[in-house]
Amino acid sequence: MLCKVDELIQKKLQKDELIAHYASANFAAMLRYEDRDKLEQRVKNILSELEHIDNDHRFNFHVGIFRIGESVGENGKPIKRKDIDIDRDYNNACTARASLASNDDTAIAFFDEEMVKEQKWIDSVQERQKRAIENEEFLVYYQPKYDPRTDELRGAEALIRWKAPEEENMISPGRFIPIFEKNGFITEIDHYMLSHVAKDQKAWLDAGCKCVPISVNVSRAHFIESDLAEQIRDIVDSAGTPHELIEIELTESAFFDDKNAMISTIKKLKDYGFAVSMDDFGAGYSSLNSLKEMPLDVLKLDADFFRNDESDGRGKIVVAEAIKLAKNLNMRTVAEGVEVREQVEFLASEGCDMIQGYVYDKPMPKESFARKMA
Ligand code: C2E
Ligand code: CA
Ligand code: CA
Repeated sequence: MLCKVDELIQKKLQKDELIAHYASANFAAMLRYEDRDKLEQRVKNILSELEHIDNDHRFNFHVGIFRIGESVGENGKPIKRKDIDIDRDYNNACTARASLASNDDTAIAFFDEEMVKEQKWIDSVQERQKRAIENEEFLVYYQPKYDPRTDELRGAEALIRWKAPEEENMISPGRFIPIFEKNGFITEIDHYMLSHVAKDQKAWLDAGCKCVPISVNVSRAHFIESDLAEQIRDIVDSAGTPHELIEIELTESAFFDDKNAMISTIKKLKDYGFAVSMDDFGAGYSSLNSLKEMPLDVLKLDADFFRNDESDGRGKIVVAEAIKLAKNLNMRTVAEGVEVREQVEFLASEGCDMIQGYVYDKPMPKESFARKMA
């Protein structure tokens, strides 16, 4: 296969251009170019042939491009041929390639300086991840969910925060969860969160608190593990926490990977007595189909529903119908990311069961949440 790829690219080369096989399935090419657009078009043409290089398989390629002629040296003048640092340039091309999303479609990315910063951040997160979990640097924050009719506390979602000793501020999940999803560490994070929440619930229960169910996010990366439901049950059982106090949140994108595995895991979780919710419903992909097939307990309406409604009422219609749909399917609804009181009234009147949003509370440390519960 590698030889075929090499041959095909060789044929496309012009005078003085080079291709080399680096390692595993990585190739490096040095191509001449006039401008960015033409270069991109040329690479695209090569890629479209490469994708069909084998009749029985379709291959996808990720390409990172660094333009040598465009870089300037420290004195501000163009870099001379003898000053080209090929290792650095190859690394820059690799950095551009690494910036491509983890999805498998063929794609091209041009290098820019921001990517270096981003790559440094990714490296520093990956260097620290193991230590962070061992030292319990990850904290569980709780964001309450309220009944919009009575303003009573009905549940909460556990959200991760990272207090790294070398950073002054808490690191928000948006800056590290995607990295962990890509490198697989997310499975350890999810276990960590689940066991911490289970322990907190058990301690509150033992202290005589009137506990509410707390939902924990489970990443899609988990769903290749066929014993996921058993793993979740065992973690909760080892804390001695009643199953009805734990809810599992699955994002809608997870529903795409392996439907059957997903359905069987959801069924097992429900048999064990855990409630299962669909997170971010209505964001990005919309999968009414998954509602048809998945026996879920809770539908979480994505925060996007509650942003800039153009006040022609269309947004409200969609929300009202989604709540109705959930009710007919015997599901409860949680509206996420609600920030204004007026929407609380509206959601209450439409029969939405719970609200989780800044209008009530932001995510908070466990001590503050315990006081709310009390
Ligand atoms: P999510 O699961 O959709 O969580 C809801 C996010 O919306 C949280 O952001 C929450 O702070 C934010 N939010 C809640 N109410 C409001 C509001 O009224 N206005 C606004 N603007 N935002 C609101 P957060 O904590 O930064 O988490 C971001 C995402 O990171 C989560 O989205 C989830 O996908 C991921 N995440 C967080 N904790 C975990 C975890 O323990 N495990 C996994 N796998 N993912 C997690
Ligand atoms: Ca969630
Ligand atoms: Ca959500």
